[in-house]
Amino acid sequence: MCLFCNVIEKKTPATVVYEDEHAIAFRDIRPMAPTHVLVVPRKHISGIRDLSADDVTTIGQVFLVARHVAKLEGLEAHGYRLVVNDGDAAGQTVHHIHVHVLGGRNFAWPPG
Ligand code: AMP
Ligand code: ZN
Repeated sequence: MCLFCNVIEKKTPATVVYEDEHAIAFRDIRPMAPTHVLVVPRKHISGIRDLSADDVTTIGQVFLVARHVAKLEGLEAHGYRLVVNDGDAAGQTVHHIHVHVLGGRNFAWPPG
């Protein structure tokens, strides 16, 4: 079964910072910034490439949760970065769509 589905079902432990009926947000196990939270919809969608029109509301809710997490983590004043990796070239390792919320330091552009 999918790792993030297991986190959603509380079969795999995670440090949850927020959850509601649409999505769950928990700390990344290998943080790349002082704040690194993953926002994951409860619905299993493999990645951006698998989105359909039916998922528009789900993805909108994920972004609202990402904003809420940024606010909870005190990131709004200085700014933060949202990242969605899709496929091998981007380094996607978990095939359940998720938004990385990264903050607490400055980020380079273009990204590596
Ligand atoms: P991605 O590479 O975009 O697919 O992101 C997957 C992320 O999940 C990586 O940043 C991993 O560090 C993170 N990750 C993997 N397993 C866990 C876990 N059990 N709990 C929290 N984060 C995890
Ligand atoms: Zn899943």
